Amino acid sequence: MKIGVLALQGDFSEHIKMLKQLNVETAEVRLPEHLKTLDGLIIPGGESTTIGKLAVAYNLIEPLQQFGQRHAIWGTCAGAIFLSKDISRDQPLLKLMDIKVQRNAFGRQVDSFETDLDIPELKQATNTTADYHAVFIRAPIIESVSGDAKILASVPDGRIVAAQQGHFLATSFHPELTDDTRFHEYFLSLVD
Ligand code: GLN
Repeated sequence: MKIGVLALQGDFSEHIKMLKQLNVETAEVRLPEHLKTLDGLIIPGGESTTIGKLAVAYNLIEPLQQFGQRHAIWGTCAGAIFLSKDISRDQPLLKLMDIKVQRNAFGRQVDSFETDLDIPELKQATNTTADYHAVFIRAPIIESVSGDAKILASVPDGRIVAAQQGHFLATSFHPELTDDTRFHEYFLSLVD
């Protein structure tokens, strides 16, 4: 199995580190041809407007959309924004996943915070019982899911912070900034 990480901007090297820890072959993706031998792709956190603009500049939008027809893609934070269908503003999006996202939804006062999430699917898939300690940095929320997209996790006030639709995964938070490899393992289980 070989997993690519979109390496235009953001914390792609942390994802690569985590995948290596799980003994997965990795590749940095900057050009369409880098997608050729991959089984799945992670889009990291960073700045979604920058990632989108660079993806347009490198002619990556269509190749990424085609890749998503057959392969698993996981977006973390800015990556989740880029993967979504609708963010109520104009910036380049892949529009692959039936989720509506609001950028910077937690406001300035709580730019960054950490909290424990109860994620039954994650516990079941990894055969563990511990809650998931999630790190949020200027995080978006998933306002709503539609089609066959399902909610995986919400913060205590009910706002959605993780969703899945078939082989697409979106998280508002940053599993690559923790020591907990369970979310990466969960993503690998979605890769055909
Ligand atoms: N606020 C950023 C955006 O809107 C996302 C932040 C992040 O990825 N940590 O793109």
